[in-house]
Amino acid sequence: MDVIEQALKTHFGHETFRSGQRHIVDMVLAGRDTLVLMPTGGGKSLTYQLPALLRPGLTVVISPLIALMQDQVERLEANGIPATFINSSLAPAERARREQAAARGDYRLLYVSPERLLGESFLALLNRVAAGPGIALFAVDEAHCVSEWGHDFRPEYRQLSRVRRHFPTVPMLALTATATERVQQDILAQLQLKEPYLHVASFNRPNLIYDVRAKHKQSYAELVGLLREIGGPAGDASVIIYCQSRRSVEQLSERLSRDGIRALPYHAGLSPEERTEHQSRFIRDNVPVLVATIAFGMGIGKPDVRAVIHYDLPRNLESYYQESGRAGRDGDPARCVVFYAYGDRAKIEFMIAQKSEPQEQQVAREQLVQVVAYCESALCRRATLLAYFGEEWPEENCGACDVCLGQRAAPEDRTVDAQKFLSAVAKTGQRCGMRPVADVLRGANTQRSLSNNHHQISVYGIGRDHTAAEWQHLGRALVQQGLMESWSGEAGGYPILRLDPASWEVLRGQRRVEIAPMQATGHDRRDGRESRRASEVTLDPVRQQLFADLRALRHEIAEEADVPAYIVFSDASLRTMALACPRTLDAFARVPGVGSRKLEAYGERFVRVISRFCDMHDISSAPQQEPSPVTQFTQERERRRSTATKDSTAQVTLHLYRTGLGIEQIATARRLTQGVIANHLCQLIEEGEEIDVAGLMPNDHYRRIADAFAEVGFAALKPVKDIVGEDIGYPEISLVRAALKRNG
Ligand code: ADP
Ligand code: ZN
Repeated sequence: MDVIEQALKTHFGHETFRSGQRHIVDMVLAGRDTLVLMPTGGGKSLTYQLPALLRPGLTVVISPLIALMQDQVERLEANGIPATFINSSLAPAERARREQAAARGDYRLLYVSPERLLGESFLALLNRVAAGPGIALFAVDEAHCVSEWGHDFRPEYRQLSRVRRHFPTVPMLALTATATERVQQDILAQLQLKEPYLHVASFNRPNLIYDVRAKHKQSYAELVGLLREIGGPAGDASVIIYCQSRRSVEQLSERLSRDGIRALPYHAGLSPEERTEHQSRFIRDNVPVLVATIAFGMGIGKPDVRAVIHYDLPRNLESYYQESGRAGRDGDPARCVVFYAYGDRAKIEFMIAQKSEPQEQQVAREQLVQVVAYCESALCRRATLLAYFGEEWPEENCGACDVCLGQRAAPEDRTVDAQKFLSAVAKTGQRCGMRPVADVLRGANTQRSLSNNHHQISVYGIGRDHTAAEWQHLGRALVQQGLMESWSGEAGGYPILRLDPASWEVLRGQRRVEIAPMQATGHDRRDGRESRRASEVTLDPVRQQLFADLRALRHEIAEEADVPAYIVFSDASLRTMALACPRTLDAFARVPGVGSRKLEAYGERFVRVISRFCDMHDISSAPQQEPSPVTQFTQERERRRSTATKDSTAQVTLHLYRTGLGIEQIATARRLTQGVIANHLCQLIEEGEEIDVAGLMPNDHYRRIADAFAEVGFAALKPVKDIVGEDIGYPEISLVRAALKRNG
C-alpha cells in the first residue's frame, strides 16, 4: 500500500478507490486543474477530501447547498478530520470565530456558500489564509451552477473567476453530475481552468433499477403496495416520492399517513421551520417516506434512499436523471419508478403553451418529447437515459429495467400498420401532427379533416380497427425507432410528422417493424414478478437478527452524537459485520467503512455486540486471510467508459474475499447473485490476483470439476456441467476453469 491508499483506509475506512478516484486524486495532488463529471454517488467528494489531507494548506470547498455542507462536515468530523463551514446560517460571532480558526490553520477543509464569494471580507479571509497556512485547493462542487445552460444557474458562481484571478497558482477542481457538452464547455471557460485534466465517468448507475408504470385509477393502491414491498418488514427504508404540485404533495402524504405509511410532505409552501423539520426527520430515519415537490432534494446526501418514485411525469430527462439519481448513493440496489399517465403530457403541454417566448416553448416541447419517449419506449430505459447524455450503452439487456426484465409484452410485428401510418403521413402532405394522422386513419369526421379534404384521401378510414390512442402509440414508436421524423420547424411550432429514408424502406416492404403493445392498464400485470427484480439475496434469519441488532446500536450511537445514522456506518458496513462477525478490533478494522477514527470511537461497542451475539448463537467468525503485501489494490488503468464500474465492483468483491467471506456470503453482503460474484472472481484471477478457488467450494467439488475439464476440454461449460451433475453449479465451474487456465 502506498501512502495514498493508506490514507484512504485510515481516514475514510475505504479499502479501494472507486473507478476514476485515484487518478483524479493524483492529478489534484500534482496541482493540476481538473474537471470531474461523475454521476451522483460516484464518490466525487473524496477526490478533494483526500488531497486536502495530503496537501499542505487549507482546502476551500465552494458548495451551494447549505444542507449538504453541514452533512459533509459532520461526516468529516466523524472520521476525525477537522473541517467547518461558513454560510449565511451562522451568527456573526460564530462566523468570526471560524474565520479566525481557519486563518490559524485549525481546519483541513473549509466549506463556503457562493453568496460569501461576493463580499470583500471573503477575499480578505482568503488573503489571511494564504499568508498563514496557505490555500491548498479550490474545490467547486456543483460546478454546473456557473453555467446558464445548467439546470441550476447561480449568478454568484460567476464570482469564482475573480477568486481565480486573485490566486492564480492555487489549483482548482470543479465537480458536477451534469454532463451535457455545453455545460462542460461553459465550466471550463467560466472558471478559466488551465490545461485541465478532464475526467468523464460513465453516467450509468448500475445499482439503480428503472421502471415505468401506467398511471390509472388503481395506481394509488399500486403505490402503497410498492412502498410496503420496498419498506420491508420493518417499513423503514427511505423513499422519496415526487409530485408536480403542492396540492398533490399534501393530498398524497395525508392519504399515505391515513393508510399507515409514515410520510411527511415537503414543498415551498411550508414554513422554513417545517421544511427543515420534515427534512431532518427524514434524514435521521425517523420517518421513511417524504412526499415532495422538486423543491426537495438538491443537496440531500442521504446515501440510503431505497427508491425515488415520480408520481407525476418528470419535467425533462435531465432533471429525471438528477432526481432519480438521489436513490442508492451507497451503491446498494435502489428503485426509480415513474407513474406515467398520458394525460400528464397534456397538462404539461398546456403549461408550455402559456409561456410567452417561442424559443422557451420550443425547448420545453423538445424536453417533453424526450421524457415522454422515455416513458413510452420499448427500448431499455438505461440505454435511453444514457443516450440523452451522449453515452452509448453497449449491452442488449441491462437486466435492471422493466423493459429488459421483460415485464412488458414482447414486441409484435406491426409492419402493415406502420405502412398504413406512414402512407397517411405521405398522403396528408407531411404537414400534420400525430393526432390528425390518427384521425385520418380512423376516418374521423373532424372539422379539420373535412376542411383539409382528408376524407377524399385513399387511406381515410383504413385504420378503424385501432383506437386513436393506439395509432398515436404506434406513431411515437416509429419516431423513436428512427422510422419517421417529428419536426418542430425553425420557429419551433407544433411538431409535424415527416418521412425520412427509413420510412421509405418500410413503405417499400424492405424493412420489418416491431413494436411493443400499448401497456394494459390493469394493475395486476406484473404480479409475481417483483421478487426477481433486484436479484437480491437476503441474509439468513440469524444474520438478519444480528444485522438488526447492529442497526439498533448504530441508531443509539447516532442519537448520542446527534447525527444521522448513516454517518456512523453504512448499511453495507453493517451487513459485512453481520456476515464476517469480527470479534477482535483487528478484524473489525478490516470491515469496509471502518477507518482509524471510527475504529477507535465505536469499535469496542460493535465488537462487544457481535461477540455476545455469536456466543449466544454459536457462530464462529469468518477465517481471516491476511491481505498479501504485494497486492496493488488500485492500479488505475485507462478504462473504457462502460467497463469502468465493472472493474471497481470486482475490487469490492476482492476485498470481501480477503476478509474471509465465501461466494454466497459475498453475494449476500453485496446483494448480488452468486453468478455475478463468480464472474468478478474469474476476472480477478485473469488479472493475476491470488484467489484460492478450491477453498471456495465444498469438499471434492474442485477435483470433480477439474477432472471433467480434463476429459472434455475448456471450450464450453455445459459439457462439464453434464458430467458433474446437479449439485455443482455454473459459478463453481467457471471459477475452476479460470483457475485451471491460469495455472496453465
Ligand atoms: P457524489 O458527491 O459523487 O454524489 P459522494 O462523494 O457523496 O458522491 O459519495 C457517495 C458515497 O460513496 C458516500 O457514501 C461515500 O462514503 C461513498 N464512497 C466514496 N468513495 C468510496 C470508496 N472509495 N469506497 C467506498 N465508498 C466510497
Ligand atoms: Zn434495460
